[in-house]
Amino acid sequence: MPIATINPATGETLKTFEPLADAEILDKLERAEQAFEQYRKTSIKQRAQWLYTTAEILEQEKEQFGKLMTLEMGKLFKGAIAEVEKCASVCRYYAEHAAEFLADVPVSTDASHSFIRYQPMGSILAVMPWNFPFWQVFRFAAPALMAGNVGLLKHASNVPQCALAIEEIIHRSGFPCGVFQTLLVGSDKVAALIADERVKAATLTGSELAGASLASSAGKQIKKTVLELGGSDPFIVMPSADLDAAVATAVTARMLNSGQSCIAAKRFIVVDAIAQKFEKQLVERFEVLSVGDPMNPDTDLGPLATPNILKDLDCQVKESVNSGARLLTGGQPLSDRAGNFYPPTILTDIPPGSPAEQEEFFGPVALLFRVPDIDAAIKLANATPFGLGASAWTTDALERDRLISELEAGAVFINSMVKSDPRLPFGGIKRSGYGRELSSQGIQEFVNVKTVWVK
Ligand code: NAP
Repeated sequence: MPIATINPATGETLKTFEPLADAEILDKLERAEQAFEQYRKTSIKQRAQWLYTTAEILEQEKEQFGKLMTLEMGKLFKGAIAEVEKCASVCRYYAEHAAEFLADVPVSTDASHSFIRYQPMGSILAVMPWNFPFWQVFRFAAPALMAGNVGLLKHASNVPQCALAIEEIIHRSGFPCGVFQTLLVGSDKVAALIADERVKAATLTGSELAGASLASSAGKQIKKTVLELGGSDPFIVMPSADLDAAVATAVTARMLNSGQSCIAAKRFIVVDAIAQKFEKQLVERFEVLSVGDPMNPDTDLGPLATPNILKDLDCQVKESVNSGARLLTGGQPLSDRAGNFYPPTILTDIPPGSPAEQEEFFGPVALLFRVPDIDAAIKLANATPFGLGASAWTTDALERDRLISELEAGAVFINSMVKSDPRLPFGGIKRSGYGRELSSQGIQEFVNVKTVWVK
């Protein structure tokens, strides 16, 4: 894949970048190693001051960074601004709480004094996706840098300007040179980066294929990894639910980021008793969404990030229809304009075992299933290889408790869409990955745990 900015709303190539040569990559690895030796000795208080400055820069220049994201991957400008604000919030969160999360933990034993100490690991490689080009990086960088690590970012090849902007923001905040570097390289360099002894651990957010490849390389080197991979999150609606609220949230949860979110609601599992009403309202709401220029504040749905994502989604929908699924609305790429536009689409009567039941649909396509009762709802919700998030709607306490206990997911949200929050752990189970980001757990993924015993 070329490293380039290609406007998804117009198809125009705006800027291309030469990938780093091998010698330049080695230079950056060496710089990271040297930076770590000094940076690990800085106080948490000092790191926090730099990270507060990062938050200020993000907030002061959010329009400029937001525009860059919209230009490179097509998200709505208003969503891009909100994303930059969220990045500022995660910086503040870790600046405020890192000292508490990393404090020595005394343990009472038969030693005179014993405790657990958390220490930085060194250079951490972050392989990141394009869908939230700022948020995905800052939710890694804020805890990793607060813990005293240094970061190496290999961002998705379609968001190079975002990747360079993030490096610059962190540098301008006062973090020493080499503490956070962007490597403009293709995915073909990832295995070699992991094999380099200066890289101590890696995190990847992206597809299963990429995750498996990175984890195999790291496994060979006995290096720790965190994987945040795909999902096909269920959105279960029980008859006791507030239907209007469920439908309104269903639209937001599916359409956020033009449907390109790992935790977007993708499979809508509705109990028969209310299925017809839910379906009618969902179709009505999908059909009034406006698709177009992501910079226009009235647009509901922008373009998909790349022509390949559009092509893959189109194939998945066509294959589903060929295997017996029924289109309730949408289903054809919008070929009347330049850019990667796909309309809000709903598929139903999805045959058991078909791709639509098993695969992740990364775009504005809702998969609608009817089930007789809660048992069938939970069974269907769990019948995928994924386990990222799950949203369930009910006002019945017994149903709520069953859904919380029995849904196989890294997060269950009741009467709300699934979302990430700096205060809460984020991550999946099954083929959605392992490890956690955010909260105290996120900062403890990339530290060495040292047991100390003093007699
Ligand atoms: P992707 O193709 O896997 O790309 C993600 C990153 O991995 C990019 O930097 C990419 O580099 C790199 N990459 C690709 N193939 C690789 C390989 N074989 N070895 C090492 N690195 C490789 O995923 P995407 O299409 O950008 O993102 C969409 C996927 O990410 C969806 O499945 C979505 O659900 C998932 N996602 C998960 C989360 C989460 O938190 N769980 C969050 C967001 C997205 P190049 O761009 O250079 O190919």
